[in-house]
Amino acid sequence: MDLKNKQMQEQLLTITHGFEDYQRQLGAVSPPVYFSSLYAHPTFEEYMRVGAGRDENAYIYGRMSNPTVRLLEQKLAALEFGADALVFSSGMAAATSAILSVCQAGDHILCMRDSYRPVQSFMASVGIPRLRMEMSFVSGLDLEEIRRAIRPNTRLMILESPATFVFSVIDIPAVAALCRERGVITYLDNTYCTPLYQNPLNMGIDLVMHTLSKYIGGHSDVIGGVLVSKDEGLIREMRHSTREWLGGILGPMEGWLAIRGLRSMPARLAMHQDSAMKVARFLEDHPRVKAVHYTGLASHPQAELIKRQMRGHAGLMSFEIDGTPEMAVKMINALKLFSKGCSWGGYESLALCPMYGATEEAARASGVTRGLVRIHCGLEGADNLIADLAQALEAMDKA
Ligand SMILES: *Cc1c(COP(=O)(O)O)cnc(C)c1O
Repeated sequence: MDLKNKQMQEQLLTITHGFEDYQRQLGAVSPPVYFSSLYAHPTFEEYMRVGAGRDENAYIYGRMSNPTVRLLEQKLAALEFGADALVFSSGMAAATSAILSVCQAGDHILCMRDSYRPVQSFMASVGIPRLRMEMSFVSGLDLEEIRRAIRPNTRLMILESPATFVFSVIDIPAVAALCRERGVITYLDNTYCTPLYQNPLNMGIDLVMHTLSKYIGGHSDVIGGVLVSKDEGLIREMRHSTREWLGGILGPMEGWLAIRGLRSMPARLAMHQDSAMKVARFLEDHPRVKAVHYTGLASHPQAELIKRQMRGHAGLMSFEIDGTPEMAVKMINALKLFSKGCSWGGYESLALCPMYGATEEAARASGVTRGLVRIHCGLEGADNLIADLAQALEAMDKA
């Protein structure tokens, strides 16, 4: 068995049976949702002992930990080949906790320009003005640019690969090695790939973040986030500092929903990928489409690198139509199966123009136009999605 397949087989066992103990739960094959705010102990001394030991698998109070949530953490840590994981009430709670745990006043953060925008907004509204941190931007695609941008006080590098808008990818092992050499901690948002299609910790990244709100939850019914690391000490320190004190732990019901979402994720992702490949090829051949940005296409400018570090592709892509931003909006409104909305990763197809409200200049800086269309291919079936896109692209020209 080659390494890739061996790792995937391991992941499938983690998702289905890993860390579960049916006997402890009266034979139930679905884990209980522990709705309990506090945990009782046989004696006061035992309560004191558990509290002092800070054992991740012993329970005191629901803001610190919860058995349903802990099962999810164990599964996610194993899926990313990390030592431990910490789940939060949202992807943003995970992202901001990472920043607040790693950085302090006076520290500089290097950030990829096309990384998730709300994290940049947190820095602009809180990190920089209130906490006196510094931040500067790089494309992430050029090692020399990163090397030059690292300052003596650079503490953290914020990465995302594939990144938003045109799904460019960074050379993860090379960037991780450069940052490590310069003492910079690397954080990578791995939401697009899920732990099934890319494992950045195995390529030298220090902290991996996922929102659970996309493919892991998978049914557009849960908000949550996770941080995973091979450094057990770093996760423990976050558990007992930012998560406990900011109070951002995931709720037990959300934890259970995420565990349930995980069970079907390999099957769902395979179908998202299959549909998206067919849709991307259809768009690429369409005379009114000027460019398609999808990691699964052979025409992706970084196809070689993608093959080296990713094992699969998700349902998300973007494209440019041959027309104005207003025509792109008209096309989107003509879509019947693709709902108009943000987010992605659920069963449903979605479409929007993510840069429509920006200036042309800002769009150009990300290599796109204001009319860039982003779609998420859901589970409605490739032929249905293609038929819908075909009629909408035709409707775009009608008065
Ligand atoms: C949605 C998303 C987030 C934020 O997750 P929330 O759970 O909404 O806070 C972060 N990164 C990426 C890539 C996302 O798509």
